[in-house]
Amino acid sequence: MDPVAKHKELCTLCGQCLEVCPMYEDIELIESLYAFLEGKAGIEPETLSLCLTCGLCAGACPEGLGLKMLISPARMKLVGEKGLGDRQTMVDPDAENNIFRKILEMAGLPEVPDYKAGPAPVVYFPGCAATYINTSMAEATVALLEESGVDYTVMSGLEYCCGAVSAGAGNPGPIQRKAEKNLKEVKRRGAKVLVTACPGCFKAFKEVYPRMFGEQDFEVLQVSQYLERLIREGKLVPKIPLDHRVFYHDPCHLTRGMGVYREARAVLEAVPGTELANKGPENSACCGFGGGVRISSPKKALNVASDRHRAAAELGCDLIITNCGGCMQNLIEAGAEKKLEVADLAEYLARSFGKDVARDDRKMLEMANRAYCLCIKDYEPPGGPTKKYK
Ligand code: SF4
Ligand code: SF4
Repeated sequence: MDPVAKHKELCTLCGQCLEVCPMYEDIELIESLYAFLEGKAGIEPETLSLCLTCGLCAGACPEGLGLKMLISPARMKLVGEKGLGDRQTMVDPDAENNIFRKILEMAGLPEVPDYKAGPAPVVYFPGCAATYINTSMAEATVALLEESGVDYTVMSGLEYCCGAVSAGAGNPGPIQRKAEKNLKEVKRRGAKVLVTACPGCFKAFKEVYPRMFGEQDFEVLQVSQYLERLIREGKLVPKIPLDHRVFYHDPCHLTRGMGVYREARAVLEAVPGTELANKGPENSACCGFGGGVRISSPKKALNVASDRHRAAAELGCDLIITNCGGCMQNLIEAGAEKKLEVADLAEYLARSFGKDVARDDRKMLEMANRAYCLCIKDYEPPGGPTKKYK
């Protein structure tokens, strides 16, 4: 059944989806979406651009509907009518305004970092965000793979972009161009297990590629799942106590999108001295980064992230842990003026082995905002005039 017909049949207009939604509050949005999707009316692009694609609305809806199931096809329809804009092409690895290429040029980084790249049964796939923006995520994971003694290889660089973020932005080109090539390279390296950093890459390899090319003969795990396995098998035994009360921030596309939330918590509970404040995902919420909101409405995106800082502080935590590059970036930027530290799960675990990965948050944020200015014609950064970053 098409999404509009299903929504019309089951939705009671009870408004429970809007009670949890960080971005919308008008129930009339539902009728506007019906009308747009049925070709009876237009819609303001700004209306559609506010959705974080967090999935909170679907979780709150008694019928399992929510708003995202209408907004996502409406975005696709709009791209079909108006074509791709610079906000969509900036995540296309082959586009002139690709954000990751801009960052590696500005930072003077090599396109392919100097990690092990030969054949091995464990293939680590950091994805573009951990390769070029939150580089500490990849460095910490590699340090832990070394510590565990497993035979691993790293498949990174723009040529292996998974294409998932472009597809989510309404541009299926990259996933169609890259999926087969990526799968061939994973198999050429002899993978038994593919480990991804980014929840988007995880979905691409776990769900989207198999739909395109059938089931593959290697296992796909998100890094939290693989780290939990290494701890369970005794290949990683956290040693140095880390005395923190931590708040685990569930990345929407991992927890609600893929149902993975237990393993990261198990990793944190295995670190001596660490106390986990939120044991389950029940009250989890969005960081504000996703769905392109960080680039279309930066201030709103950072306000949503500030709510996560408040939630963590109310639970008496001194540290927020997450495991998604977008969440990391937004939570760090929202907390830049405050005291609550933000760390990646692998980065935190690595500290328990005496492996402190260097991180320069100020430089990372400046690079990201400068790249947004270069990639998007009308981008206004949240913290100052555009020219500051040009
Ligand atoms: S919660 Fe579900 S049933 Fe209620 S208004 Fe939202 S989509 Fe409709
Ligand atoms: S996906 Fe998130 S931001 Fe989008 S409508 Fe649902 S709750 Fe709101």
